[in-house]
Amino acid sequence: MALLEIIDLHAMLAEENLEILKGVNLQIGPGQIHAVMGPNGSGKSTLANVIMGNPKYKITSGDIQLEGESILGLTVDQRAKKGIFLSFQHPQEIPGVRLRKFLLSVKQSLGSNEPLLKMNREIESLADEVALNREFLERYLNLGFSGGEKKKSEILQFGFLKPKMAILDEIDSGLDVDALRKIAEAINKFKNEGMSILLITHYQRLLDYITPDQVHVYVNGQIVATDGPELARKIEEKGYAFLLEGIER
Ligand code: ADP
Ligand code: MG
Ligand code: MG
Repeated sequence: MALLEIIDLHAMLAEENLEILKGVNLQIGPGQIHAVMGPNGSGKSTLANVIMGNPKYKITSGDIQLEGESILGLTVDQRAKKGIFLSFQHPQEIPGVRLRKFLLSVKQSLGSNEPLLKMNREIESLADEVALNREFLERYLNLGFSGGEKKKSEILQFGFLKPKMAILDEIDSGLDVDALRKIAEAINKFKNEGMSILLITHYQRLLDYITPDQVHVYVNGQIVATDGPELARKIEEKGYAFLLEGIER
């Protein structure tokens, strides 16, 4: 059975009366990495937000299932408790909440009762792993963090919370090559620990370090092509244009 299954999903931006997802189908198995690539404005972030349950978007038809059960009736918090995690394209800044404290309280709200000492040690070793200086753990969440530091803090959250299904929206944007490599290593490790990952990316370069099980090309609210990792290299060479011939935009 697929871990996450999206079935002919249509969704609109409620306040604008604008359909953005136009029949998305996607199946992600346990422990798999899938990449969704597509041009800017094609609806990738909307797909991520809809999976997480952002109430800004209204589902008009279709279904999203986790382990065979529909999650459409669940709130964002309930989806998080079921093991879905979203790392935002533009992570929020939360003045007043320190990163370490934030991580501990989210983990506890998800039902963990691990000893504090153990959790703190794990947070510190994850910070080292993604090469985020430990002093960031005592800073307010994302406040004054550079683009790359925000992405590292998102990956740290991912590694600490250990979701079944992580959706990473442009986790590669704003990263220099060293940071990109660190983050890719961490993602590969989390995959090996059994987590499923949906990598949303505009560029192919992250896929130099992470080999997805499948690559999907997403254009104008629909997946228009699915193939193995070689599809990403083809896009890098030729751009999206060759896939768009004959597709109504
Ligand atoms: P991508 O992540 O692929 O760049 P998005 O999901 O961010 O695409 O956006 C898809 C389309 O929906 C774009 O045309 C965008 O302008 C529109 N859109 C998304 N969110 C909003 C919003 N809150 N208000 C108006 N338009 C939106
Ligand atoms: Mg975009
Ligand atoms: Mg986006």
